[in-house]
Amino acid sequence: MSAFYYIYVAIVGLCLGSFYNVVGLRVPKGESILTPRSHCTRCQRSLSPGELVPFFSYLWLRGKCRNCGTRISPLYPVIEVMTSCLFLMAPWLLGWSSELILAWTLISLLIIICVTDIHYMLIPNKILIVFALLLLPLRLMIPLEPWWDMFAGALVGFTLLFLIALISKGGMGGGDIKLFAVLGLVLGWKGVLIAFFFSTVYGTIIGGVGMILGKVRRGKPMPFGPAISLGAITAYFWGEALTDWYFQFFRI
Ligand SMILES: [Zn+2]
Repeated sequence: MSAFYYIYVAIVGLCLGSFYNVVGLRVPKGESILTPRSHCTRCQRSLSPGELVPFFSYLWLRGKCRNCGTRISPLYPVIEVMTSCLFLMAPWLLGWSSELILAWTLISLLIIICVTDIHYMLIPNKILIVFALLLLPLRLMIPLEPWWDMFAGALVGFTLLFLIALISKGGMGGGDIKLFAVLGLVLGWKGVLIAFFFSTVYGTIIGGVGMILGKVRRGKPMPFGPAISLGAITAYFWGEALTDWYFQFFRI
């Protein structure tokens, strides 16, 4: 029975991942997320229903537009599979509890800001506001311990990133600052610090790998969204275990 639930979540994850690609690509440009139907960016041909199947269409078409042969960015299927995997990870780690709604909402936010940040180097206010309005009541209904930790988290997240933006003079964007306030709502003050710590670790790794591959240049800005997303996921699922381990290790 449980296997059936997991298969269902995997499929929903792929479909939502496909939708989040569209949201992330269109919202920053002020376009509608519903119309027009997805189309090839070069020849403008609308995709047939058979070509809209997440992930599998990409494999079937071997990553090329059927009409003009333009290469389709592998980022599309990667985002779809990532969404599906993260959606599966939530019930696997948390069990089938009410917290799942919050986990899936957080994952959705993180996936969308990865798309907007990779494509446009920005985290749109519209996305942040919509998700803050979803996550705030959810966190009130499924509270942290103590309940006000959500507000402490938002304050700590905002202040920390704001100070870093001041010191680094533009190393952090306004989107990153607001994103950390929203993350604080979900993670609490300790969680948001853990998220920040791991974001910088992942950011350094991604930047290093990017430089080796020639995709990132020293001194040029790089999208920090994917690193923040990974940091937030780490803090959300393993934050408590990590702090326990840390305090035991140093016998504090
Ligand atoms: Zn085409």
